[in-house]
Amino acid sequence: MAAPSMGGVSLPRGNGQSVRLPRGASLTDLAEKIGAQPAALVTALFHLGEMVTATQSVNDETLQLLGAEIGWVIQVVSPEDEDRELLETFDLTFGDVEGDEDDWDIRPPVVTVMGHVDHGKTKLLDALRNTNVVAREAGGITQHIGAYQIVTELEGIERPITFIDTPGHESFTAMRARGAKVTDIVVLVVAADDGVMPQTVEALNHAQAAEVPIVVAVNKVDKEGANPAKIRQQLTEYGLVAEEYGGDTMFVDVSALNRIGLDELTAAILLTADASLDLRANTEQDPQGVVIEGKLDKGRGPVATVLVQRGTLRQGDSIVAGDAYGRVRSLLDEHGNKLKEALPARPVQVVGLTSVPRAGDTFLVVEEDRVARQIADRRQARIRNAQNASMRKRISLEDLDAALKETRQLNLIIKGDNSGTVEALEEALMKIEIDDEIALRVIHRGVGGITKSDIDLALADDVIVLGFNVRAEGQATELANREGVDVRYYTVIYQAIEEIEAALKGMLKPIYEEVQLGTAEVREVFRVPKIGNVAGSLVRSGTIVRNSKARLIRDGAVIADNLTVESLRRFKDDATEVREGYECGIGLGSFNDIKTDDVIETFEMREKPRE
Ligand code: GDP
Repeated sequence: MAAPSMGGVSLPRGNGQSVRLPRGASLTDLAEKIGAQPAALVTALFHLGEMVTATQSVNDETLQLLGAEIGWVIQVVSPEDEDRELLETFDLTFGDVEGDEDDWDIRPPVVTVMGHVDHGKTKLLDALRNTNVVAREAGGITQHIGAYQIVTELEGIERPITFIDTPGHESFTAMRARGAKVTDIVVLVVAADDGVMPQTVEALNHAQAAEVPIVVAVNKVDKEGANPAKIRQQLTEYGLVAEEYGGDTMFVDVSALNRIGLDELTAAILLTADASLDLRANTEQDPQGVVIEGKLDKGRGPVATVLVQRGTLRQGDSIVAGDAYGRVRSLLDEHGNKLKEALPARPVQVVGLTSVPRAGDTFLVVEEDRVARQIADRRQARIRNAQNASMRKRISLEDLDAALKETRQLNLIIKGDNSGTVEALEEALMKIEIDDEIALRVIHRGVGGITKSDIDLALADDVIVLGFNVRAEGQATELANREGVDVRYYTVIYQAIEEIEAALKGMLKPIYEEVQLGTAEVREVFRVPKIGNVAGSLVRSGTIVRNSKARLIRDGAVIADNLTVESLRRFKDDATEVREGYECGIGLGSFNDIKTDDVIETFEMREKPRE
């Protein structure tokens, strides 16, 4: 087959060769790989019904569709694969426990507490925090850093357990979605006075999908009406059979409120870990792990809570966490104590990063700062591309006309107090679906107060700046006020969603629909000097209203549309409207082609309320 020539630019055909492209690549990227002109690819894609510019990110299917058309097999490389390759170029791998198994040390289990709302997850995490048998160093105040470790005693041996203390399924699934496997054991909290509820089942499904063993904490056994046996009964339906019934799931009756059963619970966690998991790690290898939480601290700058999974993290290490990097300036535990090092399963706050990583990002320690920076830079570029690709709306040819005339877009800048909420908010907002006419785009996001540079950015376009649990700093407020930038503050996500949804609706063009008012049959046509032909008619249905829109129908066909009832008379008098069953004279302005037996249909355009 000859090379298709499009718009005078020829396109080299492939013969089924493969070409690899990162997710979110542009036609220019593809052109470079196959030695084509970007313009030729734009044209080719245009003929396939999609209009994109040469440098715009294109989604996977479109790339593959275009590839098939021009004889190339396009392999879109997933972000995970790409990251693996990126690390390989630096001779690094993530996730492998290195060294000889004999050298591996036992590490503590990492536990996530899940369950239905109000069943006592938070209370239980608080109660467990206080079961620590190891006396804390003086001066430390317990802080929420996203995870904590306690030491319990089992059969006379001190055993640490790590708890992720951002309860909720979102963080669990968000981390899993990013491929970060953090949790070794799920504690499923079920209130004994309430029973298995929708989120109980959801939590169970998440845990089972991740193949994580479950320990059931039957909570609130202090309450009247508590029925722990019923919980055991209910959960058998979901494949969780209590040990005492011959199954292999440990159920422990607890009261987070009265601190009953907590030792039994920690024992059950350890026994489950010992029975079904071989939790070991090499403490000697280069440290790696996962980010649990990230935030911007006023005094200390970006602070990330990380969970060390392998190796030993030390002060002074060069670290790259997601697209953030830096040198570990200090390591702090959940009591604010400075640590020299952190072993596997130890959650620590890392101070010294240049920016705030996201929950679920992985971290690695590398030999040099330079390497950390290069990896971070490459990841940043990739995240930007991928974001652009996912946010761009595909424009079909049918929409092309309209799109060229007017693509309306509401731009947002999202700032928040920590990376988790910023992400959650962005994710929720991107799910709002109003109408194809309007696109919502987040042009910038970040952790921290709203700065002058955010406002500067907002000035460029129609932008709403959202501050979630943060405020505008210093000159930013003044600038925003002076320039009329729309800055809104929120502390609850759904409120932000509601308002943005309303803003989007406000941007919609009104939709009009035609409402029929009446029809009239022409009985006789009169010629009236200066006015023209007037239709002597009988109103057949509804009402004929003066100044309403009209169309003329002859033998069932529309002869003229877009007419106006310019004059309306009953006998000799002007009328504003004439009802069904009455005769009247209708003048349609300069339109004179009216014949006996024509039908005049009148209507008006009414604004249709948007749902
Ligand atoms: P979460 O939504 O699962 O985090 O639930 P919370 O920990 O916030 O607890 C919900 C409510 O149940 C709070 O009012 C707690 O005080 C109460 N609660 C939690 N555990 C117990 C318990 O063991 N006994 C009783 N009586 N109340 C509890």
